[in-house]
Amino acid sequence: MFEEMSGTLAHAGVTVKKNLRPGAEQKVVFITARVHPGETPSSFVCQGIIDFLVSQHPIAKVLRDNLVFKIAPMLNPDGVYLGNYRCSLMGFDLNRHWANPSPWAHPTLHGVKQLIIEMYNNPKINLEFYIDIHAHSTMMNGFMYGNIFEDEERFQRQAVFPKLLCQNAEDFSYSSTSFNRDAVKAGTGRRFLGGLLNDTSYCYTLEVSFYSYILGGPTSTVPYTEEAYMKLGRNVAKTFLDYYRLNSLVERPLTSTPKTREENLQLFAGSAQRGGGRSRAGGRPERSGQAHLKEQPQARSTP
Ligand SMILES: [Zn+2]
Repeated sequence: MFEEMSGTLAHAGVTVKKNLRPGAEQKVVFITARVHPGETPSSFVCQGIIDFLVSQHPIAKVLRDNLVFKIAPMLNPDGVYLGNYRCSLMGFDLNRHWANPSPWAHPTLHGVKQLIIEMYNNPKINLEFYIDIHAHSTMMNGFMYGNIFEDEERFQRQAVFPKLLCQNAEDFSYSSTSFNRDAVKAGTGRRFLGGLLNDTSYCYTLEVSFYSYILGGPTSTVPYTEEAYMKLGRNVAKTFLDYYRLNSLVERPLTSTPKTREENLQLFAGSAQRGGGRSRAGGRPERSGQAHLKEQPQARSTP
């Protein structure tokens, strides 16, 4: 079910394997998809991420050397098998049960949540990103939902990744990205884990339109294809390079518009450094307590 990616790469005769050094804190990016079985595009986006990360692309190599990716590409396999639109075999909208998943009624969710909590409790692991991929039936483009925090700096740092992704992916819209704490979304992975993990972790729902994305105005809509969904996935993966500012580790220019990317990096350098650099520079932040599978109040599912 899980695909873990890490590896080594020789740069100028020096073997780079930063996240695998003994005692090194592993930076983990956790990605899930297809919790809603009807949202087929989420699988194509996830496939794009996986295909890119296991490729020989220089950015992929750098990402594997510096980060650990944990990917659960299908959270609702029984629902997908049955052709359900939103629910599992037992009729649950799994994305409303993160607060207290049952190993009997929501086994995939329970397993993934346990793994996340194990990683959270491991002092050698810093779970820095959680991204849950969905598809949206009315909105255009790709966009994200994030959380609302009391801490303004944390709130601003949360906006860095979607801003960078917007620069890298023509179909991703930062203006459609929103941050909320609606009661109806309380049992979602993004909302629940956003409250569980520490203040250097960011949790997003990545949505992509079932239909089209808009280029240069509302009249120029481009229908999504399977390839376009997978390209969005590749761009999500590549954006981690910008976020962690690892460009100097790459051996040659990697994009057709390096100047733009450089300008973008300058634009976001301050906040990206705060967001990505905190755990590097300051070590692991203090935790108020260990996470556990504690029962919490949850919202009812929407239809
Ligand atoms: Zn969904």
